[in-house]
Amino acid sequence: MKICVLPGDGIGPEIMAQALRVLRALDLGFEYEEALVGGSAFEATGTPLPDATLKLAQEADAILLGAVGGPQWDTLPRDQRPERGLLGIRKALGLFANLRPAILYPELANASTLKAEIVAGLDILIVRELTGDIYFGQPRGIEMRDTPFGKERVGYNTMVYSESEIRRIVKVAFEAAQKRNKRLCSVDKMNVLEATQLWRDVVIEVARDYPDVELSHMLVDNAAMQLVRNPKQFDVMVTGNMFGDILSDEASMLTGSIGMLPSASLDANNKGMYEPSHGSAPDIAGQDKANPLATILSAAMMLRYTFAREEAAQRIESAVKKVLAQGYRTGDIFEPGTKLVGTRAMGDAVLAAL
Ligand code: NAD
Repeated sequence: MKICVLPGDGIGPEIMAQALRVLRALDLGFEYEEALVGGSAFEATGTPLPDATLKLAQEADAILLGAVGGPQWDTLPRDQRPERGLLGIRKALGLFANLRPAILYPELANASTLKAEIVAGLDILIVRELTGDIYFGQPRGIEMRDTPFGKERVGYNTMVYSESEIRRIVKVAFEAAQKRNKRLCSVDKMNVLEATQLWRDVVIEVARDYPDVELSHMLVDNAAMQLVRNPKQFDVMVTGNMFGDILSDEASMLTGSIGMLPSASLDANNKGMYEPSHGSAPDIAGQDKANPLATILSAAMMLRYTFAREEAAQRIESAVKKVLAQGYRTGDIFEPGTKLVGTRAMGDAVLAAL
């Protein structure tokens, strides 16, 4: 089994190094091959997604990514920006299912901006469709048009979903719910948007194949509110690309610890790209301050979803719980009374716990 390793930019290489130490310690017989993506790829080759990187990503069984981006590349044309590297891989590999757990470990209950009793023990999985919706729909553009205000610039995008696109992501969500607490909440805006009326209709059809999962529907504005009012009511949530973008960030911040949250983006055969939910944190890059746990937990998701190595995944997750219980904290989750450690020392602690 071959893993394509893409450390990326900023803190990417530092956090990736720790995840690789953990994976190697498990001695699973994987082969690891590294390639450039994002800003570092742009510097070396003039493109954020070199052909060699895309080829490696296509050939590998799974992809482990650090993070991409940084202020030095913010003024580049859109197709040369680091994020294009990620979007290009997602699109080329058909990674349509984004799984983002938002888990608040009891030891970190005070990291949240919400009251500890609202969030302690939170464990939600957001399943976001990743390759459709208004982000990719045609037509799109900015052009001069006649409007009631006169001739002026008009910007427009189109929300499009086909029933096949909806069906495949909703199946992923039902299957994830079956492995958890068997509750699925589908989020749409069917009172206003036809594209999401179809979404709801298809969800109801797919639900017939999963009678053991309790299905509910919620409008996105209410879902945004319920996530801060009473987030523990949710088990698995499924939604489209744009609503999922917003709700998954909201859910991750309920935990107050962005350095802790992994994510997976899967294709129809469970091949996937695994990465932390956070960005490249240029403000702390190269200082041994970054929290490597989100990347280490992303490696655990890779073992679970692509390689079906549930036991190895749980070993990593248990090791992470143990280091938190032992009081080890990087700066982003530090509280007085706990032990402040750097990126590498956090990796050491996880290895010791393993
Ligand atoms: P960010 O997630 O990089 O950082 C936000 C804040 O969280 C910063 O203060 C940072 O220091 C902190 N932080 C993030 N990860 C951390 C970790 N592991 N340990 C400790 N602290 C951590 O978001 P941003 O500042 O908005 O974006 C920075 C760059 O990252 C931008 O170029 C952006 O485009 C890019 N970005 C990339 C991805 C990705 O690669 N998937 C995702 C989001 C943002």
